[in-house]
Amino acid sequence: MKDPAEQSHQQFHLAQLGWDKTRQAEVDQIATPDLHPGRIGVAVRGRYQVLGLAGTRAQWASCRKSVIPSDAGLSPFPAVGDWALVRRDRDTVVIERLLIRRSFFVRKTAGRVTQPQVIAANVDRVLIVTAVDRDFNLRRIERYLATVWAGGAEPVIVMNKTDLSHDRVRLVGELENVAPGVRVIMCSAQDDHDLSQVVALCELGMTVALVGSSGVGKSTIINRLAGAERQATNPVRARDHRGRHTTARQELMVMPSGAILIDTAGLRELGLWEAEEGVGRTFADIEGMAQRCRFRDCRHTGEPGCAVETAIRNGSLDQERLDGYLRLQREMEHTKLRADARASSGSKKRWKEIAKSARQLYRLRKDLGMKEK
Ligand code: GDP
Ligand code: ZN
Repeated sequence: MKDPAEQSHQQFHLAQLGWDKTRQAEVDQIATPDLHPGRIGVAVRGRYQVLGLAGTRAQWASCRKSVIPSDAGLSPFPAVGDWALVRRDRDTVVIERLLIRRSFFVRKTAGRVTQPQVIAANVDRVLIVTAVDRDFNLRRIERYLATVWAGGAEPVIVMNKTDLSHDRVRLVGELENVAPGVRVIMCSAQDDHDLSQVVALCELGMTVALVGSSGVGKSTIINRLAGAERQATNPVRARDHRGRHTTARQELMVMPSGAILIDTAGLRELGLWEAEEGVGRTFADIEGMAQRCRFRDCRHTGEPGCAVETAIRNGSLDQERLDGYLRLQREMEHTKLRADARASSGSKKRWKEIAKSARQLYRLRKDLGMKEK
């Protein structure tokens, strides 16, 4: 069956997808003439759409998990935005390995499983989209910021739906307080509003991801940016290769501006994954104050000589911001404990296997009449 994506026949050169000299050097080092580089555009249940392969607009590929090197960083499965090396046989495309992830947007998998899930790989800039309506929540912005910083991309806060609020100057002030040094732009994605500030963020050759709660206007913004070319750039949007609709999804698109956009949707939870550095950067003010606490391991919850609580009392720090910080710290500790428990039960299992095979070997030798030395 023909892939509907192929009907548009738009092919992308690697350069249009963000390929550069360093990537080429990386591939030259691997030196495998029968492997071809391409970029993952969509990932759905173990199937991956690969863009940039000569002669096709997009190809669906499978992936033999064992061949993905762990040096790709974090989850060994391909993610949208990853650069992959694929082997092409007549009708099949198989992902053989991933190139190094320079940056990523990763969360803890939703639910009880303690595993990372890479939402987008190799992203230069992440637009944290929020709306001035019910979605507006400073604590959530802090969580997103920590995740973006931890993954090595540049965060920009985009406050959408400004047409609905008379209060936007106050809201921007609040955002700038919780995100010092981070660019905050306001926009309204409604038809007759100017989106030039958002357009300016999507520079030629740059990979830009849009994240944020459902309903804040990400699709509307992307549709406006893509204009009439939207249909041509990606007709398989929100559908997998069998044409079924999917809920949580990410998708990479090449914009008319030459930027590479990664749209994300359906991320209900954003659990932190190895985000200590990102949290530290997001809350640099609190961590700076904590240097002056009497105890080095002060938890800022009633210890004597706590500089952070002094800041709360004299009004230079907001109690809610501190609570948000402590909550993220506890969450990271909890995830770490569970990950450690998993790792050690993994090694226990390995030891059991080793012991079992040692017993089998012993029995075998006995059966053969061999003596233990
Ligand atoms: P997504 O879930 O983040 O992709 O959000 P959508 O793009 O689907 O937008 C959710 C709803 O908000 C839709 O009904 C949009 O028409 C509406 N919307 C998007 N941007 C704006 C805006 O700037 N102003 C207003 N008033 N509504 C908007
Ligand atoms: Zn303290």
